[in-house]
Order: sequence, then structure tokens, then C-alpha cells
Amino acid sequence: MHRRRRGTTLITSSPTPFALAVDLGGTKIEAALVDDAGRILNGSRFREPTGRDASSEQLAGSVTHVVGKARAALPLDAEVIGIGVGTAGPIDIAGGTVSPLNLPAWRKFPLQSHIESLVPDAPVRLRMDGLCIALAEHWVGAGQGVDDLMGMTVSTGVGGGLILGSRTVTGPTGNAGHIGHVEVGGFDDACWCGGTGCLEAIASGPSTVAWAQGEGWTGSTGEQLAEAYAAGDDVARRAVQRSGRAIGQAIASATNLVDLDLVVIGGGFSRVTPDLLDFARESLAERTEFAFVTRVRIAPSTLSDEAPLIGAAALVHRAELVP
Ligand SMILES: [Zn+2]
Repeated sequence: MHRRRRGTTLITSSPTPFALAVDLGGTKIEAALVDDAGRILNGSRFREPTGRDASSEQLAGSVTHVVGKARAALPLDAEVIGIGVGTAGPIDIAGGTVSPLNLPAWRKFPLQSHIESLVPDAPVRLRMDGLCIALAEHWVGAGQGVDDLMGMTVSTGVGGGLILGSRTVTGPTGNAGHIGHVEVGGFDDACWCGGTGCLEAIASGPSTVAWAQGEGWTGSTGEQLAEAYAAGDDVARRAVQRSGRAIGQAIASATNLVDLDLVVIGGGFSRVTPDLLDFARESLAERTEFAFVTRVRIAPSTLSDEAPLIGAAALVHRAELVP
């Protein structure tokens, strides 16, 4: 409680409300304090690596560390009113468990109860990271004022989340919006999930790099692919075009299914070149008889790498959108 004496009058004000936001992904976990305007508090953001080779104990320890550090950054006149957790999927909302495809050590790991044990007095709400990205864009990003949108991330994986009629859509298990595992026509790339031709298996950063290498390109990272593309390398151009067109095909399918106004795309590999989104738009535009599909706007995220944390905080600060 913040108190100031002025003369004989005692003025009291409520503590500043913060959400403690957590983002669990295939390569890192982050936590930060986020205020009710969607701003990350300076000095409250902490990160630890995760990864395919991490053990269950290492992952749980990393969660404990970043949550503890972020919580310790809370100012004296502030309080944590809730914890929002965005995580790579699949998840199970009813059980509060996570089974991230790229973290094999965790299958049905009880992440919600683990975090509840770390911060006993604050409610914990767990959702897919893709849904959090949609919430962040709707709250403070490129999707403000748009009632029907899909948020997408194109990075080491491909994720997504839906807001329809200004409400998030989770489905009974929490996995609605998993656009990375929608199968794309004309592709037969094998996917970690067991499927074939999944968008993630085609268009993620590592998938695009692997395809280019198969065509004789000698680089090994998304950053190098971006440089090669900018320099006019033919294989790099075909690789990016292939991924962009697959993204557009998946967006067309999603739009046919749920009728969207806007798709906002973020994530590290989405910035490989602005042309990536143009290739997606070209693919979308081929549905010439379906004006409701070709009218969908595809926009880059305006939130850089903060979207997952801001969206996790929106699970607390914008709880009315999250049934
Ligand atoms: Zn898949």
C-alpha cells in the first residue's frame, strides 16, 4: 500500500497491478512483469534456455528461476494480481499440463500447479503461446479494433491463435488455432507431430533452412538465409518463396474455415525479408472467386519479440476476452 502524508490528510492509493507473464518455448523460457497498459516493466524480464535435450528437472528449474527473478523485481507499491502463462503446445487446459512438441522431456507436465506452488497467492491462467500472440496484437499491436483475427508466429516453430467475435477461441483442450499443424496441399514434408505436409514442417526457420540445404545452399541459419536472399541468391529466393506460399495456403484454409479479417504475423523468421508476407499474399490472392478469402489482410507484428509476454499478461489484464 502506498501512503503519502500531506499536511493532515492521509492519501492512500491502490497498489499498481502487474501480471507476471511467462512464455515457454522450444528454445527458451522467459518471465516478466507487465502492467495494465501492456508495458513490460524495465528490469523485470528474465530468460533461460530450454531445448530438445533439456531434462524435466532442468526445465522445471528454469521455470522456477525466471518466475522468482521476475517476481523479485516487483516495486514496493505494486502487486502481482495474476500469472499468465503462454506455452508451446499441445496443452491440456483442464489438467493444467503441457506437452510441448519441441521439449520431449515434458509430456503432460503439470506446469500450472508447478507455477501455483511458486506464487501461492496469485491465480494462474495457462494458454497456448499462439493464442497469447493473438491477444497481444489485439490489445496493443496491429490487431487493435479488429474483432476476428488470427495471430501467427513463424520462428523455430509455427504457432497461431484465434480471436473470433472479440473472444479467444481455445477449444475443449486448449489447442484451437494450431495453424502450424494444418496440412498444406502439394507438400509432403515430414513433421515431428507424425503428420505430413504440416505448415511448420515447411515454413519454420529451421524447415526453410533445411530445404535450402537440400537444394545445395551451404548456409546453416535463418540469419544467413536472410543475407543470401538479400544478396539475390537463387536457392534462398526459392526457399523463402516456397515457405511464403505455404503460409498463404494455410491462411486461405483457415479463412475458409472461420472467416477472418486480419492475420498478424510475428516471430524471428517472419522478418527474414518483407517479401515472405508478399509471397503469402500472392498465394491467398489466387482464390479469385472467394472475395471473403482474398480480402483478408496479412500484416507484420508491431510488437517485435515482446508479443508472447504481453499476450501472456493479457490472460490476466484482459481476462474478459478469455473464456
Ligand atoms: Zn505437424
